[in-house]
Amino acid sequence: MLKRRQFIQTASAAGVLGLSACATTGSGSGPKVVVIGGGYAGATAAKYVRMWSDYGISVTLVEPNSAFVSCPISNLVIGGSKTMADITTPYDNLTKRHGVRVVRDTVSRIDAEKKVVMLAGGGELPYDRLIVSPGIDLMTHTLPGMAKPGAADKILHAWKAGPQTVALRRQLESMRDGGVYAITIPLAPYRCPPGPYERACQVAHYFTQAKPKSKVLILDENDDVTSKGALFKKAWADRYKGMIEYRPKHKVADVDAATNTLKFEFNDDVKADVLNVLPMMRAGGIAVQTGLATANQRWCEVDFLTFESKAAKNIHVLGDSIQVAPLMPKSGHMANQHGKTCAAAVVALLTGKEVNAMPIYNNTCYSFVSDKEVVHVASVHRYDADKKTMLTVPGSGGVSAAASELEGAYAMSWARNIWADTLA
Ligand SMILES: Cc1cc2nc3c(=O)[nH]c(=O)nc-3n(C[C@H](O)[C@H](O)[C@H](O)COP(=O)(O)OP(=O)(O)OC[C@H]3O[C@@H](n4cnc5c(N)ncnc54)[C@H](O)[C@@H]3O)c2cc1C
Repeated sequence: MLKRRQFIQTASAAGVLGLSACATTGSGSGPKVVVIGGGYAGATAAKYVRMWSDYGISVTLVEPNSAFVSCPISNLVIGGSKTMADITTPYDNLTKRHGVRVVRDTVSRIDAEKKVVMLAGGGELPYDRLIVSPGIDLMTHTLPGMAKPGAADKILHAWKAGPQTVALRRQLESMRDGGVYAITIPLAPYRCPPGPYERACQVAHYFTQAKPKSKVLILDENDDVTSKGALFKKAWADRYKGMIEYRPKHKVADVDAATNTLKFEFNDDVKADVLNVLPMMRAGGIAVQTGLATANQRWCEVDFLTFESKAAKNIHVLGDSIQVAPLMPKSGHMANQHGKTCAAAVVALLTGKEVNAMPIYNNTCYSFVSDKEVVHVASVHRYDADKKTMLTVPGSGGVSAAASELEGAYAMSWARNIWADTLA
């Protein structure tokens, strides 16, 4: 690894370049950071390592998708009030403005001993520090019926924004009026606690306009609504009475795609016209395969000061893949904050500086209960040196008093701001 003085020379030379052409990709002799995954966590970390090292650290981001497609706001595409174009942002500015080298590929293996990642398309990338931010994988194998031919094309999750988002919308459009849409929710923790309840609202909003005899069934493995419960229940009672039905304590055991039937561990079978099944989730495959998922083989434990993995040195894990601290949601907002905290720590570690001993960050999670009206929950999280974890700051944060269009405007500003912070 580069010595500190040598780094500062490289960094300031690159910094001078940076003033006129910070787009110059850092492929010189400076320290090398490789980032796996250009989502909310990885793209933010890539950009901020470049910025906060004054463009002295070279950053390569590996991502298979040609553009960033946001899960936040994707429920509105399913509800029909937004389009895929509204939630898609190109990666160009990471390269043009920040000099991040973006490699369109998938990482197939990490050699932690040699500090190298292997690409599915061939080739290797050496690193001094590796940032692993592959999001989640859906544990579809826990539902045997999903392995039957055609089942995965028919029973969608749409929990990674992209082709399934469009496909689920099409299923709703072709459903008869008077049909039933059923969404199943796994036991927490899962990606975006309020996301399934927001989706139920979006589907119901569409039904009120286009298929008023239809029904939305929420089949939740949890004992109760896991986020903003009172606000969602009020929206269901006030706006979607008789249309949305909520059933807690429903653990899906299997699915039958041929008859569109859900089978539960304890409850009666349920048939629906459109099945939207969210299986259990775990850290993205590359993290699990590398042995980073130390908590139940599902989530990756990290040091919250640096996001360094507890299982492997020089490897940092961010975003939805981590074993969260108490009351820390798996959200895009949080993943963006992980990205910045980790970027600051990685720059400090590679330049011989002190790592911040008390990171503080916040989370705001907006949910659309119609096409315009929104509710939110917010929290502030601070590092606790005794417990070595992040704890919520007492009295911080809060929830909306009621749904409003004003919050709807804030929610869209939040989305535009976080897309800019992550990618522009
Ligand atoms: C319907 C829905 C609504 C949501 N609404 C909100 C909201 O309103 N607010 C909010 O804050 N959060 C929301 N979320 C949650 C948010 O989307 C996630 O928490 C966030 O995307 C997590 O960021 P991440 O970087 O960990 O993962 P992702 O954003 O999923 O990024 C992971 C990236 O890694 C890439 N990748 C995976 N494996 C590899 C590999 N081997 N090699 C290279 N690249 C790889 C993937 O292609 C992907 O681009 C919502 C989620 C859903 C599903």
